[in-house]
Amino acid sequence: LKLNSKNLPQISAADEAQVKVPTYQRDGAVKEGIVHIGVGGFHRAHLAVYIDQLMQKHGITDYAICGVGLQPFDAAMRDVLRSQDHLYTVIERSAKGSSAHVIGSINSYLFAPDDREAVIAKMAHPDTHIVSLTITESGYYYNENTHELQSEDPDIQFDLDPANKKAPRTTFGFLYAALERRHQQGLKPFTVMSCDNMQKNGSISRHMLESFARLRNPEVANWITDQGAFPNAMVDRITPQTSATDKTALADNFGIEDAWPVVTEPFMQWVIEDQFSDGRPPLDKVGVQVVKNVHDVEQFEKYKLRLLNGSHSALGYPGQLAGFKYVHQVMENPLFRRFMWQMMQEEIKPLLPEIPAFNIDEYCNTLIERFSNPKIMDQLPRICLNASGKIPQFIMPSIAEAIWVTGPFRRLCFSTAAWFCYINGVDDSGKTFEVDDPMREELQAKAHAGGTNPAELLSIKSLFGDDLRGDKRFIQEITTAMEDITRDGIMKTLPKYID
Ligand code: NAD
Repeated sequence: LKLNSKNLPQISAADEAQVKVPTYQRDGAVKEGIVHIGVGGFHRAHLAVYIDQLMQKHGITDYAICGVGLQPFDAAMRDVLRSQDHLYTVIERSAKGSSAHVIGSINSYLFAPDDREAVIAKMAHPDTHIVSLTITESGYYYNENTHELQSEDPDIQFDLDPANKKAPRTTFGFLYAALERRHQQGLKPFTVMSCDNMQKNGSISRHMLESFARLRNPEVANWITDQGAFPNAMVDRITPQTSATDKTALADNFGIEDAWPVVTEPFMQWVIEDQFSDGRPPLDKVGVQVVKNVHDVEQFEKYKLRLLNGSHSALGYPGQLAGFKYVHQVMENPLFRRFMWQMMQEEIKPLLPEIPAFNIDEYCNTLIERFSNPKIMDQLPRICLNASGKIPQFIMPSIAEAIWVTGPFRRLCFSTAAWFCYINGVDDSGKTFEVDDPMREELQAKAHAGGTNPAELLSIKSLFGDDLRGDKRFIQEITTAMEDITRDGIMKTLPKYID
């Protein structure tokens, strides 16, 4: 059955499939309190699911979502959603089986290249209380080195030109245009709610938008500074890209013809700072951890970055070199499994703050279980891409702190050495693979020049700073690991790192 509003009763009536469908009212019966930019896989598996639960279980009608696509390639999402009355299916998969759930919280969709004014008008509408974002890191125009807006970027330059104010290109161009209108109309600013996987996502959104606004109109910028809200948040749910077989499996197992379902894991988490300028839905009713201040978010974030993202990277690069294809295949290997557990427990855990009523061992166990999920089919290249943005955030801080407290860090060094070897793009069997990294050219030149000596790569200041290069113990560990991996391969080297 094709997924659309008309077919929902039949889809849910097919007893054997047990598909959950929205039974709440949609379209004109609800208000679209959230405008979301970047309707990709993650948004549809995360925020849209929480809102669906609020609408279904708690009768919330003021916070349905209007999706927005700014990129030309979002035309595909526009077409799919419109042809399905904005409905889509979330397929949850675990070792225990899979379930299908039709989500109805996305109530409409605007494709900016079709009508940019419609997007600005929607954000400026009094019913809009929140503009949320999953626009990937590149959407923030954030300069990692200076921590400032990339104001020289041609798209930002275009949007800063008042002549283009009715047809912006970037997220900040749209946010500014809509906020300026709200300011003129005496409305409150909407909350800008980033759900991107970045540390301090709220603070970065605030700083980028305020910088943009200041270049356009200081009065509006001051109003945003005084009255705007940009909650920081930690988001988590592993959501790989949808494959053609996912669609076929949905049709075969649940009888639903959905042109773009989302596949994800049962686990989901969202910790968000309680900072909203124009009201918020009762997110805590559906399991969102709404916390008092940024410090609380940062603690959870640290756990996630160091344990989840750090471990993901620590299995990704050696896994790829060893010839594995999927995350769960790496975890099925008993050596890797023990390596991961020992790295988490002995090297990362001692460096983390205690969070009251939070059980770190349980968290580590859940991570091992999530990574082992054989049904998610999370590909290693997805885990490995953009390492230069990941390792300095996920692994190096643990190494730096371990050096500081003279703690153990051999496994963290092995993982970093595996990344250094991975940069060459050749696995242990001699097969080449694609290295997807914005710094690829520089990294490969350094890796080539250095061979098994890490000094060349470690000389990239923007990634490693100055401090680590002077630490003899660190240099020795990395060099030994690189020599061993290069000579013997991952699977022969790994046992040296397991007690
Ligand atoms: P996706 O490729 O399915 O969707 C990306 C979305 O971002 C698209 O809608 C695209 O239009 C939009 N986008 C990209 N560049 C943009 C720009 N410059 N301006 C405006 N919009 C832009 O990817 P996804 O899996 O949905 O991931 C999106 C983000 O979600 C990630 O960058 C990450 O921060 C966060 N996230 C993802 C996961 C996951 O497991 N997939 C988990 C946690 C957080």
